[in-house]
Amino acid sequence: MDFVLPAEDDPRRAEVRAWLADHPRPTGRELAESGLVVPHWPAPYGLGADPVHQLIVDDELTRAGVRRPVNPIGIGWAGPTILFAGTPEQKERYLTPMLAGEEFWCQLFSEPAAGSDLAGLGTRAVRDGDEWVVNGQKIWTSGAQLARFGILIARTDPDVPKHKGISYFICPMDAPGIEIRPITTMTGVPSFNEVFFTDVRIPAANLVGDVHDGWRLAKVTLGNERVSLSSGGVLWGAGPTALDLLEAVRAAGPVTDPIARQRLAGIYIEHTLLELIRLRTLTARLKGEQPGPEASVRKILADEHGQHVMAAARDLVGAWAMVTGGDGLDRRAGRQRRGEMDPNLSPDKPEPDLRDRDWYTGFLFSQALTVGGGTGEVQRNIVAERVLGLPHDVDVEAGRSWAEARTAVPR
Ligand SMILES: Cc1cc2nc3c(=O)[nH]c(=O)nc-3n(C[C@H](O)[C@H](O)[C@H](O)COP(=O)(O)OP(=O)(O)OC[C@H]3O[C@@H](n4cnc5c(N)ncnc54)[C@H](O)[C@@H]3O)c2cc1C
Repeated sequence: MDFVLPAEDDPRRAEVRAWLADHPRPTGRELAESGLVVPHWPAPYGLGADPVHQLIVDDELTRAGVRRPVNPIGIGWAGPTILFAGTPEQKERYLTPMLAGEEFWCQLFSEPAAGSDLAGLGTRAVRDGDEWVVNGQKIWTSGAQLARFGILIARTDPDVPKHKGISYFICPMDAPGIEIRPITTMTGVPSFNEVFFTDVRIPAANLVGDVHDGWRLAKVTLGNERVSLSSGGVLWGAGPTALDLLEAVRAAGPVTDPIARQRLAGIYIEHTLLELIRLRTLTARLKGEQPGPEASVRKILADEHGQHVMAAARDLVGAWAMVTGGDGLDRRAGRQRRGEMDPNLSPDKPEPDLRDRDWYTGFLFSQALTVGGGTGEVQRNIVAERVLGLPHDVDVEAGRSWAEARTAVPR
């Protein structure tokens, strides 16, 4: 499971370094046009990079302090699908501004009655000349209020089995008839929205792939995962890590409460297990192998770990933190309370990590970890069926549960 990144004089490193020397503060557009945003994509958008080459690019960008444009749904979901099934005109029009972060994208999939059972969606798209007319409602649409475009799946044939009558569209978010109503979550931020469609006209040229082939396309990005060295924070790769929590606790003084000590040790064990799983998955990718079952269990463990870390932080600070957005875990505050000087910090230098809001909003947001991107229960169904080979949860064709289907079998 050990691996060593290619040496300092590797020509692929030299190439990235030379580009960074010419572009020490690159714009999003410059990064997009260089292929460094998605090195694993083919040219002209990426470099056709293999996993090792991807890690080199990541490593060099990190060293240079260069961050890629932020457009997660565009770059992670919409982009790979358009690359896979889009027309040449769609690729030409949408991909570069998306990779440059100039046009933000959202995902119009979930509906009030279609979340885990996404294929049960009811939003309709009906062809009318050179346009599709869309009516219905989406919900939990992250960033819709900021987005220029959305990837939309809608029912185009209601008379066939549900997975077979869905089509995939590029939806301009400023089209007449779209109403976006922000939903303010308990973090205080309207991070997602309800989106209503009333006779919204989308050009026929915005259909991606074939009519009624949207379900297959909705799953296309599964094979497009980027290889990355970063372990990231506990909030889906963002926010603080377990080690940040443990460091803050150590800096704030000894933990004598036996229950708190047990809990912190447990969090460290979870962190270590997740790190081993991550390295094993990474090693498989570097060897050109598909990740094994460990990749399937990682999301379940990581989401629950995020909740454990954030709940422990809240409990250590106490309820006071939740009403003030408090700083009880602030490393500097801990040191100041004990009258210690930190040689790495001067009064005019900002705290390097563990900003108050990270922990305060992090705890509140962590409740969403086991819901978004497939709930913990649905992920367990996937492990049960695809890893353990247990019977399917739902008889897809008949649309009934496995338990119902079994009792219907004549004995
Ligand atoms: C932070 C966040 C951001 C999101 N952003 C987006 C976005 O940008 N675009 C978008 O389209 N959607 C988005 N979603 C929606 C997300 O995809 C759905 O919330 C998720 O798929 C679950 O669907 P649901 O909320 O309708 O819950 P439901 O599917 O109604 O589930 C309700 C409960 O029933 C359980 N359940 C359902 N089916 C089964 C089963 N077969 N077996 C066992 N238990 C079951 C679930 O686990 C859950 O506990 C986001 C969600 C979150 C939390």
